[in-house]
Amino acid sequence: MSVDYLRISVTDKCNLRCVYCNPLGSCGYVEHREILSFEEIHRIARLSVRCGIQSVRLTGGEPLVRRNIVHLVQKITATPGINEVTLTTNGVLLEPMAAELKAAGLSRINVSVDSAERECYQRITGFDLLEKVTRGIYRAIEVGLTPLKINAVILKGINESQVPALARISLYLPVAVRFIEYCPTSRHTRPSHDFIANSQVRKIIESRFGPLSAILGMGANGPALYFKVRNSAGTIGFISGRTSVFCRSCNRLRLTSDGKLRPCLYSAHQYDLKKLIRSGAGDKQIMALLERIIEEKHRYTKFNSFTEDFSMQKIGG
Ligand code: SAM
Repeated sequence: MSVDYLRISVTDKCNLRCVYCNPLGSCGYVEHREILSFEEIHRIARLSVRCGIQSVRLTGGEPLVRRNIVHLVQKITATPGINEVTLTTNGVLLEPMAAELKAAGLSRINVSVDSAERECYQRITGFDLLEKVTRGIYRAIEVGLTPLKINAVILKGINESQVPALARISLYLPVAVRFIEYCPTSRHTRPSHDFIANSQVRKIIESRFGPLSAILGMGANGPALYFKVRNSAGTIGFISGRTSVFCRSCNRLRLTSDGKLRPCLYSAHQYDLKKLIRSGAGDKQIMALLERIIEEKHRYTKFNSFTEDFSMQKIGG
């Protein structure tokens, strides 16, 4: 599979404190001067096009907390060769920003929501903001940031009970509700025994809504497998990073907010692009490194490099 997708984490700061990601608010610890500037991000995006990248996803931390993020969206969507710019957000700031993000050229968004119930949402994220996030989702659909995806990470004993209510959203809204397997990342987050396999999540859904039918071909360029409850407006997706293998079909690179390029989410292996850029490297030198990373990408898979101590909010999930 060719590498044509770049995920860019624009900040390690986040306005939520999710128990499985950033419970102590430890993100934001990278000093501001170590975070890539918009000019640096744009330069990397522009040069990566010449190495085969065609689509970009902005993530974080929480990308909407980065000041002037709309301006960055504008710059990247205007880059010749980038066919699509998308964004992953927790949705807290989405309602007032959705229209300007759309006008700036953003194609669509993914919103992370791990609970359909207010108290449970607050227990997971630390904040009573589910209503605000819900308004953001409706506004995003209204302005055309679609097809919209809702991402949920399910943890045993924490939000397992939310699976039916989250799946039910796909019955009445034209969205993809995707269940992402929890990946224990550091000693500060939830223990690995909180993990639930997506096969179990699927059983919970099917016991409530009947058998899911597979949608062949949908999501061909990503790790999700898609299904449908009969007569539903939307779909259900499963991203099973712990219990399945999609290394061979992985088409993405990840740029961290402090300028490290990672060929594989699970690999500790990374290249310091920021150091190269700030040492005054020319475009050719930067492209040579990008080409080398793309060339080497398939050496790094979760099997030869899995590490349990990394920071999802820095890498961008
Ligand atoms: N703040 C944005 C958001 O909430 O979507 C973007 C960054 S967040 C790190 C990106 C995605 O990573 C979210 O869907 C989140 O649920 C997921 N994520 C974070 N920590 C995770 C973990 N330990 N295992 C699996 N997914 C995780």
